[in-house]
Amino acid sequence: MTTPALTAPNMEDYAATRAEFSWPWARHLLDGLPGGGLNIAHEAVDRHTAGPRRSHVALRCLSRQGGPARDLSYEDLRQLTNRFANVLDGLGVGPGEVVFTLSGRVPELYVAVLGTLKHRSVASPLFSAFGPEPIRQRIARGDGRVLMTTRALYERKVAPIRHELPGLAHVLIVDGALDMLRVDAGDAADDVAAVRARLGDLPEGTRSLGELMAAADRHYRIGPTDPEAMALLHFTSGTTGTPKGAIHVHEAVVAHHLTGRLVLDLHADDVFWCTADPGWVTGTSYGIISPLTLGVTSIVDEGEFDAERWYRTLQEQRVTVWYTAPTAIRMLMKAGPELAAGYDLSHVRVIASVGEPLNPEAVVWGREVLGLPILDNWWQTETGGIMIANYPSMPVRPGSMGRPLPGIEATVVERDEHGTVVLGADGAPVPVPTGTEGEMVLRAGWPSMFRGYLNDDERYAKCFGGGWYLTGDLARVDDDGYFWFIGRGDDVIKSAGHLIGPFEVESVLMEHPAVAEAGVIGVPDPIAGEVVKAFVTLRHGFTASDELRQEILGVARRRLGPAVAPRSIELRDTLPRTRSGKIMRRLLKARELGLPEGDLSTLEDGS
Ligand code: AMP
Repeated sequence: MTTPALTAPNMEDYAATRAEFSWPWARHLLDGLPGGGLNIAHEAVDRHTAGPRRSHVALRCLSRQGGPARDLSYEDLRQLTNRFANVLDGLGVGPGEVVFTLSGRVPELYVAVLGTLKHRSVASPLFSAFGPEPIRQRIARGDGRVLMTTRALYERKVAPIRHELPGLAHVLIVDGALDMLRVDAGDAADDVAAVRARLGDLPEGTRSLGELMAAADRHYRIGPTDPEAMALLHFTSGTTGTPKGAIHVHEAVVAHHLTGRLVLDLHADDVFWCTADPGWVTGTSYGIISPLTLGVTSIVDEGEFDAERWYRTLQEQRVTVWYTAPTAIRMLMKAGPELAAGYDLSHVRVIASVGEPLNPEAVVWGREVLGLPILDNWWQTETGGIMIANYPSMPVRPGSMGRPLPGIEATVVERDEHGTVVLGADGAPVPVPTGTEGEMVLRAGWPSMFRGYLNDDERYAKCFGGGWYLTGDLARVDDDGYFWFIGRGDDVIKSAGHLIGPFEVESVLMEHPAVAEAGVIGVPDPIAGEVVKAFVTLRHGFTASDELRQEILGVARRRLGPAVAPRSIELRDTLPRTRSGKIMRRLLKARELGLPEGDLSTLEDGS
């Protein structure tokens, strides 16, 4: 194990590393495929199996119920992902086709994502707390050919919408898959039959992943992979319209690996725990890919947040590097310092956090209660990996997201009164003076930058100006180059670290027969950062009542799932609209929070 006090950070001097850095150098930290090309799964799994790391634990999987952990070594993972890639071949799935997963954090999910990448198909993990509507939208938009899911999730969430997904040719039920093929057993035929008998008949139109994997070859050769080939599809929400599918390519692994080294400071003997779900980009880039490219042991916990469980996991698994989120930290703070004091966390060397603003008090609390400052970092689905960070070797300024990753050029630029980034005569955004608020932009061209929004070139083009990627986030930078988050430049809601598009929620509310119009905003919450609140007007003939409000709320929860549905609904006689008829969410929010109402010149009379 790495000893906190004796472990020198991978990056000892930020300024020097930044000055010397080049992306080709970072690329050379990886192997590349034997015949040329670059494949994420090769870098994450296969390349470790030629040497002594072969039997090192790659994934230590903790089940929701507790009990002994299930360890998968790098060699186990190599064979399992080979089998999964062969299953895709057997199903006639081609490179470039999209394979969705919808499950909790079970080991098979990790096998499926990495096996898909080996096969050069495109992995798209969905969050298991989504309701049927977000699932339908994403699979339809991604033109999913294959879905790996659990029987329970299939029956509850997918079967009712399957007829709306004609392109979804194969549904693979994951239950018991690893039990069916004990990883170390050469011939698993007996296990397959026994587990199959225990599970009973599968729903119509689905197949058993375990059976298919047991029948598949353990050997697989990754085909030539163009570093620019599409590898991952992550959906993210905008202010308007349906979710956007951000496209990432195999080259992204260069950034995953580098940030694992420089930001998370992973060393060969580390035990790393990323608490994010692969249904969100952090759970894929850092819950799957990055730590494996560094050959460390990664903890995969199927269970949900529970303060005692988390402290116990940190202690028992002797976690050395921990990557989590502000909501979780606030919940731990709420659980009190006494609880933390009951556990030995002395082996933890780095604690990092991402996804939403990390309050300065949380950084200080980390120092006092956990013995370490919490290192905030910033990135987005579109950036594919960490872009701005606090590093173990750099002094922390509580409340700041830190400084740009070596290789990343970031600045803050001017926006006009409509919120549009101002472009100068050369087409490039115009930087604001130090300390002034503006939109944060990144010079385009790093390896994990998204290469498009699926089938939406126009939206993609709008994200760039004069060679810079416009993040949509508002920030300021101080004299020493530290970035400070101010807020989002749009109406998108961040709840418990999850991005929620108000339009998606409004659309589902509007489907209720009683709802005439809906406006959805995020309202502050001491734990989750923001929670979703909906304002609704009723159609003629419906009378406002608590019962009706509850019913609308219930329908929204069933259709959207708890991760996306509004926490509360308020019935109103009118909603503020622009003259062109758009609900003014900004004004709804200002009024709800008692903030200045801003420019009302476009407000329709009487709202
Ligand atoms: P997502 O694409 O779901 O990962 O969400 C990305 C968004 O989360 C960013 O555009 C920010 O608005 C927010 N975000 C991520 N990290 C941070 C952070 N460290 N501080 C404040 N906001 C953050």
